[in-house]
Amino acid sequence: VLPDHVVPNVEWLAGKVDDVQLLLVEPEGDVPGPAQVERLCQLASLYGHSYTVHLPTILTADGFRQRNRMEAMVRLIRLALPVEPLGWVVHVAPAPPTDAPERKAWRQAATALVKELASTAEIPVHSVQVENQGEQDVLAHVELAQESGAAMCMDLGHILREKGDPLAHLEAHLPLVTHLHVHGVADRDHRSLVHYPALGALLDTLVRRTFTGVFTMEVFGVEPFESSLAAVLAAWARRPPPGSPA
Ligand SMILES: [Zn+2]
Repeated sequence: VLPDHVVPNVEWLAGKVDDVQLLLVEPEGDVPGPAQVERLCQLASLYGHSYTVHLPTILTADGFRQRNRMEAMVRLIRLALPVEPLGWVVHVAPAPPTDAPERKAWRQAATALVKELASTAEIPVHSVQVENQGEQDVLAHVELAQESGAAMCMDLGHILREKGDPLAHLEAHLPLVTHLHVHGVADRDHRSLVHYPALGALLDTLVRRTFTGVFTMEVFGVEPFESSLAAVLAAWARRPPPGSPA
């Protein structure tokens, strides 16, 4: 949210949100050291928030890079483990082919890697959250979650960007979903939730289906964060009181 390192961002967000998604998406990027991780633990116990961690992309092809990537991901998991993340978000590259036999090969390769990541890093496979990058790949990630035992991080903004129906996908696959990425689409995606249509209907579904996962407003910048929070609170306030007829 702030153009700064992880700790100042969490210090700023503490008390404002229930969960912070830590972006550890570049193995060689801005990775906090052990002292920073300790500070994140301290902030969580002071303010009561949880963490989720967005890891780098799992590579299903290109043997040498794939090996290096797996080792880097395991290192990042070990580093972040003290903050006890509720989930570990991963993308899989390349994207799943649309063609059925090729998609099966993609799923088998991705399943093996998700399982290897969980067992090597000694985390429950269910804590790995595989994330769709668009609309057409939602089903492939549903199948990957089912086959590997992972959960799904459903990115509703990515579905919206491709003119899909986020709520229909969510209703269909909610039991597999433990994490939501929500952002608006304007000139591009990852914009304020002011640009997310039917926020009220989304909240209604989450309440009706007793969603207990994490709702991440995946936006970047102070203004988008604040206007997103205001949009969610306004949509929440417009909901009918409990017990009133639907
Ligand atoms: Zn996302």
